[in-house]
Amino acid sequence: MPELPEVETVMRGMRLHLDGRTIARVTVRREGMRTPFPPDLARRLEGARIRGFARRGKYILMRLDTGESMLLHLGMSGRVLLSLPGKAPAPDRHEHLSFETTDGTHFGLIDPRRFGTVDMMPTADEGTHRLLARLGPEPLGNGFSQACLHQAIARRKTSIKAALMDQSVVAGIGNIYASEALFRAGIHPARMACGLDAPEEARLVEAIRAVLEEAIAAGGSSLRDYAQPDGELGYFQHAWRVYGRAGQGCPDCPGGKVCGGVVRIEQAGRSTFFCPRRQVLPVGAPIAAG
Ligand SMILES: [Zn+2]
Repeated sequence: MPELPEVETVMRGMRLHLDGRTIARVTVRREGMRTPFPPDLARRLEGARIRGFARRGKYILMRLDTGESMLLHLGMSGRVLLSLPGKAPAPDRHEHLSFETTDGTHFGLIDPRRFGTVDMMPTADEGTHRLLARLGPEPLGNGFSQACLHQAIARRKTSIKAALMDQSVVAGIGNIYASEALFRAGIHPARMACGLDAPEEARLVEAIRAVLEEAIAAGGSSLRDYAQPDGELGYFQHAWRVYGRAGQGCPDCPGGKVCGGVVRIEQAGRSTFFCPRRQVLPVGAPIAAG
């Protein structure tokens, strides 16, 4: 599932190839995905000039000169396909929405599991849209600090991992980057969120920024490889430190011998990965079940 860095990479790819272009032809191949497509979607896009992109949490906003923005969420398996003029691919049966710009650039939204979302709203109302209004701060923005994180988790009795995945605490973090940030900060994922002290919260804020910035940089390199696009945006190779590495050597412990390797546990039905040496439970620290 794409999280903030993957969404940021898709957004930058769209900006690179679509910003300033005018949408010529729109093809809507089904009623919708997770939710129905907005009424008259094709009519509202056709003829519009694209005048900028933004990202909020895991949502992409494509702003149009009609005064509307198209919101895009990639769900579990969504990808964006961009093709240069004259290189439009054979239609994919999972391409639910596509458009071509007047210069022939092709945009396709491909989502086999159809958990993604597309919506339209007045650009002026982006901040109050039902999917965006309750999002927490952007983790890479100035508004995200130890004080801000403290305020969001001070009364939470869930695990700190579950709290990080709550989009109202901080926007854009999912299962992968929650594990990676907690590893980086040296905090056990089952710690109760309200039990963290101020230095731990400060460490976590720094760790979240670091893992996201590194992943965005990796996405940037994949974007450079994408300079002749006839491929898909949305996922890129990234070396996780603990995510998906159960039983393998932990990069923080030489040879993985010291800690015995990365451990996988389940929290609220999702996998969490951590290092049992770097991320210990302090004596007496409250633990959360989910
Ligand atoms: Zn380790």
